[in-house]
Amino acid sequence: MSAPLVEAVIDLAALDANLAHLQHAVAPAELMVVVKADAYGHGRVPVARQAVTSGIRSIGALDLDTALELRASGIGAEVSVLAWLYPPGQDFTEAIAAGIDLAVSSLGELQAIEDAARRLDGTAGFAAPRLHLKLDTGLHRNGATAAEWPALVAAAVAAEGAGLVRTHAVWSHIAEASDDEDTLALERLLAGVEVARGLGATVAVRHLAASSAGLRREDVRLDLVRMGGHCWGIPSFDGVTPADIGLTPVMTLRARLIGTRPGPDGTTLGFVSAGYGDGVPRNTAGTCTVAIRGAQHPVLAVERDHLVIALASAARVGEVAVLFGTGAEGEQTVRQWGDLSGTLGDEITTRIAARVPRRYVAAQ
Ligand SMILES: *Cc1c(COP(=O)(O)O)cnc(C)c1O
Repeated sequence: MSAPLVEAVIDLAALDANLAHLQHAVAPAELMVVVKADAYGHGRVPVARQAVTSGIRSIGALDLDTALELRASGIGAEVSVLAWLYPPGQDFTEAIAAGIDLAVSSLGELQAIEDAARRLDGTAGFAAPRLHLKLDTGLHRNGATAAEWPALVAAAVAAEGAGLVRTHAVWSHIAEASDDEDTLALERLLAGVEVARGLGATVAVRHLAASSAGLRREDVRLDLVRMGGHCWGIPSFDGVTPADIGLTPVMTLRARLIGTRPGPDGTTLGFVSAGYGDGVPRNTAGTCTVAIRGAQHPVLAVERDHLVIALASAARVGEVAVLFGTGAEGEQTVRQWGDLSGTLGDEITTRIAARVPRRYVAAQ
């Protein structure tokens, strides 16, 4: 097999090390690995499998299709898989049969879950689904309002009494943009937990924080922290490298130098086999570099299938050009690429095109 023109190398050993580090950092809270958006471009199934091997017992899927795919890939009942965003009219039958943990933001969603549970009740192997009741604590991105909360909890407790659901968790999502807002969200969540317990709900797990607040603030970790970005070694803090916070970037994007030609004023231009069709942001032109044999070369232009670079030192056609990675080969990290090109590292990995093969390097 010949070497591909462009590939995203996914280092599962780095993922394993990041997860160990993050689990330790948030303990005694549990770490949930959020694999939405194809694990931000890293590949949801291989990433989730590695997470389970690394000891993770909670996975966040976002949608039910992803959650069901993870179960079908062999992730068993010892691992909780949470879905929280549904299209209107969602049928929960398959999800309940597959033992997916279900977030509930409204009476309508609860009703649909009860309807599906009632249909399955009495069939072999029926287990009432575990609910994560969601309270809106200021982000206004689904979740029951404080006014709706008591009725939602009471309805869930009643459905539990009928054997259709199990109350299990109370949660919310925070902006992680300002400490004051996050503190207010925490207070609102804890008040919601008190209300829920007062109404007879079981609240075994309380969760609120994602990558940023989860690493930075002990008080918002509660029982579980949901992380995406930090698992892939992309810092969500300004001005820190992955190594500064004990992380290693998991994705390295590699291509090839496919040609050179003389440029203006005695310079040499190089052509690299990755372009915006592969998900390389066009804003990297004039802002970012790629590394060839340890030296950085400025990106001058991003075409659909290739990049134009200014060769800063001699390089031979066929050599590997590292677009972003850990820095071990002199390249920039995806967080640096994001900063320099005016986006987020998360956005860059998430948008690496499906046509770019992912090559998984196994953890030892
Ligand atoms: C995406 C998402 C996360 C993870 O966010 P990161 O900032 O990448 O850690 C956590 N919780 C919810 C509800 C999300 O949608």
